[in-house]
Amino acid sequence: MGDLGKKKVALVTGAASGIGAALVRQLTADNCEVLGVDLNEEGLTKVAAETGCEILTGDISDQEFNETAVTNVSDLFGSLDLLFLNAGILGRKIELQINDLTPDELDPSQYTKVRAINFDSVVFGTLAAAPLMAANNGGSIIATASIAGLAAWNRDPFYTATKHAVVGWVRGIAPALHAQRISINAICPGGVATPLVGIDRLQSANPNLLEPEQVAKAMIDTALEEGTGKAFTVKADHEPVRQEYHFTQIEGFPV
Ligand code: NAD
Repeated sequence: MGDLGKKKVALVTGAASGIGAALVRQLTADNCEVLGVDLNEEGLTKVAAETGCEILTGDISDQEFNETAVTNVSDLFGSLDLLFLNAGILGRKIELQINDLTPDELDPSQYTKVRAINFDSVVFGTLAAAPLMAANNGGSIIATASIAGLAAWNRDPFYTATKHAVVGWVRGIAPALHAQRISINAICPGGVATPLVGIDRLQSANPNLLEPEQVAKAMIDTALEEGTGKAFTVKADHEPVRQEYHFTQIEGFPV
């Protein structure tokens, strides 16, 4: 990780596992104050014992909980510099994703749940944090989307739709936040070796899986840069692993 300069304050969602836990480890190792948020209290407690981060248990799909988390970080540290909106779930069990989707799997209540956790949380998190960031000279927001936010992962269309929505939110809201000295960018990883992708794939030592630490580093590097409204792929077979994704311009419309 690069030099973070002045001691920074970070909030990480999905901090109990995978990419979020790797973010907390890297941020605390670099002397940041960190509040880790997750539904999984047991996992959070372990991460806190290991890293010394502060923790808060709750459901990030709930708007009020996002406001509580920001109040909590403000009460603990007085400001917020870096916000990692990272928690997420699949729309379809990983063990089913070896097969094509069948129409009887298209369950509206599952859609609502996946949308709330993967997308509503990113909107609520952005809106809850922006006033505190703006009051303290701005900040940086990174949302964990996915390659499925740029390409159609048709084994899991609910997931694909919510991750496209995350990229759309980042690109659409960036100019308004820029006026408050807040940047927002999306990170779009390919497969990462975390519990989300299932234990079988983890044990298969698939060389195309990223390590969560690689994604965490890409997120922190992006948070410390100047740009906003961008999407970056992070792929195991890319060199460098993080690359800006360039959208096609449609004549007469913004990029
Ligand atoms: P993970 O399952 O290891 O971690 C996700 C964390 O989010 C868990 O600790 C879980 O408890 C938490 N969470 C789930 N719902 C929540 C809620 N309602 N409120 C609070 N916390 C909640 O998975 P991961 O791979 O580290 O995933 C992190 C992000 O990366 C997700 O947004 C995921 O979609 C994205 N992503 C993962 C991969 C991959 O291959 N693992 C690829 C691309 C994108």
